[in-house]
Amino acid sequence: MKFCPNCGSKLDFEVKICPVCKFEQPEWAEKEEKVSKLWWFVPFFLGVLGGFAAWSINKERNEKLANRLLIFGIVWSIIWGIVYFFLKILLPP
Ligand SMILES: [Zn+2]
Repeated sequence: MKFCPNCGSKLDFEVKICPVCKFEQPEWAEKEEKVSKLWWFVPFFLGVLGGFAAWSINKERNEKLANRLLIFGIVWSIIWGIVYFFLKILLPP
């Protein structure tokens, strides 16, 4: 989602000309909205669940980053799953 710099209407990213005011959209208006870097801590601490939460909250604002947060949550959980698995094997109770 982006906003028309002329009239402030909500527009899809693909829209080149604002349907409300016919303003031609400049390049910079196509960039995704900034999402706080702090969102990376959510999947970092909560794994897949945090990844899904960060994804569902941010997907409207910045789909690419939301997808990356989700993938990070999944991959991070798999890494910890593998580490836990090997610790279980290597360290007998
Ligand atoms: Zn407009």
